[in-house]
Amino acid sequence: MGNIIEIQNLTKNYGKFQALNRINLTVPEESIFGYLGPNGAGKTTTLKILVGLLHYSQGSVKIFGQEVKNHSVAINKQIGFLPDAEMPKYETIYRFLSLTGKLNDILYRKERISEVLQQVGLKKLQNRKIGNLSRGQKQRVGIANALLHDPQLLILDEPNSGLDPIARKNILSLLKDLAKEGKSIILSSHIIGEVDKIATNIAIIHRGKIIEAGKRNDLTKYLAHRKYIISGKIIQEKVLSLDYVTAFNLDLLDRVIITVSNNITEEQLLLDLIQKCDSKIKFFSLMEFSLEDLFFAKITEEIKGEDYP
Ligand code: ATP
Repeated sequence: MGNIIEIQNLTKNYGKFQALNRINLTVPEESIFGYLGPNGAGKTTTLKILVGLLHYSQGSVKIFGQEVKNHSVAINKQIGFLPDAEMPKYETIYRFLSLTGKLNDILYRKERISEVLQQVGLKKLQNRKIGNLSRGQKQRVGIANALLHDPQLLILDEPNSGLDPIARKNILSLLKDLAKEGKSIILSSHIIGEVDKIATNIAIIHRGKIIEAGKRNDLTKYLAHRKYIISGKIIQEKVLSLDYVTAFNLDLLDRVIITVSNNITEEQLLLDLIQKCDSKIKFFSLMEFSLEDLFFAKITEEIKGEDYP
């Protein structure tokens, strides 16, 4: 399987400010690509460059093997984009969708608009004005708009922002279905746990640099560690003297979290801890590693006590 997007050494400056610093990214065909990063990291900037809304300062950005700089109009016919932006308040959903078709020189059949409205669960509301919709409903209009021309690639900037859990779940399952149909999806989001449920590939960007990227399952291998939550009379130096203990932290409730490499059995770990802590272990439990753990670990590593973000 090839790559649908190939970005090499992409740099974007806004005046003197460097928003993207030589980033490299590949998005394989038929993947769901989760693009994560704190506020101001550079996600929207990257996505806007992909759809030709922003020029870039240096580097190469290819979609379907073609350089975006030279072919953005042709490429955009195969892309559905959900921007993180407002839509016209006074249009009804139906009129808005037929108008955007006209803007793109595509005349959609009524049946196609109905089909897409059905897909995003808005068929019954098609004559309601966009200004009178809830945030979740508006977000679904945006997704319907991105889907209308049946694009091969969907680029979604924060599709889940501000939605209630049910609306978020519906959008996630819609995206999963679209991926099953063979579409490639790139989505940015702050809701990491949800990206984790659907993404096959992940990239984390921080201050304009990609700090982690790869297949979701390979990234878990990076976390080929386990974390335990322990309480009792625990002395940091003693625990850290065990060579398989890779980190010692406190959580928000001041409980001790230790990270161990995977080559140690749980029984051995417990025995060693009891010995090091003179049998004073009161509680010992395994914590699951998630994409969120990876995100926090990586961002914390980058920030190292500096101001956030
Ligand atoms: P968020 O998660 O908050 O939406 P983001 O990762 O999408 O953030 P971007 O919108 O890409 O971040 O912004 C990246 C950086 O570029 C930010 O520091 C932002 O302030 C800056 N920036 C974005 N647009 C402009 C602009 N038009 N002029 C100057 N700086 C800009």
